[in-house]
Amino acid sequence: MGEKRTVYMDHSATTYVKRDVLDAMVPYFTEHFGNPSSIYHIARDSKKAIDIARAQVAKALSAEPDEIYFTSGGSESDNWAIKGVAYANKKKGNHIITTKIEHHAVIHTCEYLEKNGFEVTYLPVDKYGLVDPADLEKAITDKTVLISIMYANNEIGTIEPIAELGAIARKHKVYFHTDAVQAIGNVQIDVKAQNIDLLSLSAHKFYGPKGTGVLYIRKGTKIDNLVHGGGQERRRRAGTENIVGIVGCGKAIELVTADIEGHNKRIRALRDRLLSGIVAKIPDAYLNGHPGKRLPGNINISFEFIEGESMLLWLDDEGICASTGSACTSGSLEPSHVLLATGLPVEISHGSLRLTLGDVNTDADVDFVLEVLPKVVTRLREMSPLYHKSGKDGGCNVQ
Ligand SMILES: *Cc1c(COP(=O)(O)O)cnc(C)c1O
Repeated sequence: MGEKRTVYMDHSATTYVKRDVLDAMVPYFTEHFGNPSSIYHIARDSKKAIDIARAQVAKALSAEPDEIYFTSGGSESDNWAIKGVAYANKKKGNHIITTKIEHHAVIHTCEYLEKNGFEVTYLPVDKYGLVDPADLEKAITDKTVLISIMYANNEIGTIEPIAELGAIARKHKVYFHTDAVQAIGNVQIDVKAQNIDLLSLSAHKFYGPKGTGVLYIRKGTKIDNLVHGGGQERRRRAGTENIVGIVGCGKAIELVTADIEGHNKRIRALRDRLLSGIVAKIPDAYLNGHPGKRLPGNINISFEFIEGESMLLWLDDEGICASTGSACTSGSLEPSHVLLATGLPVEISHGSLRLTLGDVNTDADVDFVLEVLPKVVTRLREMSPLYHKSGKDGGCNVQ
């Protein structure tokens, strides 16, 4: 009996760890286990490894190594950037600007600050998920201390005009943070040219290990600490360094930024073939997000008359790993806040599917999904009373 096929198309939820990344990490579990704060030679090896990783991350962002801080992941980096800048600049003002489509690590942090004396403006987006720079400029007041706008959206893949938004923030002398967790490796990031003061990353979204993140903090930025304790990370982020994670993060970012153009070309070709196949084979399907300004591997598509969670279970039964939106909302029937912000009606947002392609995907994977997905959608529609009511089933009305 042949092994059951698995097609992984959920790279925006997490990625596997690349072999070269793992190989770079392994010695730091064993022979190079020293605490980098100690003074003997095995500790110096650990310290050196962290310095190398810091330089690798800095290079990928066009930043300086002493502007790079390692954290426990994207969520911690977002929390640190937002709470840290808000509290350190409270004397100047209590106003923060963000958007309606941020990851929960940003939105819930802002909601927490609202309960603690801060005011937050959540900018709207257009039907493609794009923020209008004019809306940002209008929202800035003399009390605004921070603007936080994601680089690329994790659900619909829309890429925001970050350089333009950063220029507006700079013009008004307001700190600009971007959650670039989904963007790295897919777009060329240059924190200086793009006027970015703070930027969050997470290694497990770019073929590195889970539990390691980065916060870039531009030199001179006024920011409070989030994690208090020892003097690690130049006294800004306490806790014995996660050396294996940091080494893996450095290696992974080097690999993922080595050939962004080549990666884009390959993944986009697979994605476009998959998308046009889906649209050709399945009627009443609508693409969410921007047709052009989107991550190369992202498809987010809504199928009318379908319940997304059932679709995921049926796809899983066939070996296909996908998502309905963000991993955090999977398993709950709350409609996606991102899809709602683009103006998609609640009923249609329930029938949306996110397929995110990455390194492991092949033409055979695309063929397999194109064979399975239309069957799943047809079967689910046949079971849907809404579909029968619509008359699109050929006129057999079931009350
Ligand atoms: C995954 C993700 C995060 C959270 O990163 P973790 O390392 O899992 O905490 C934050 N923002 C975006 C856009 C993400 O996709």
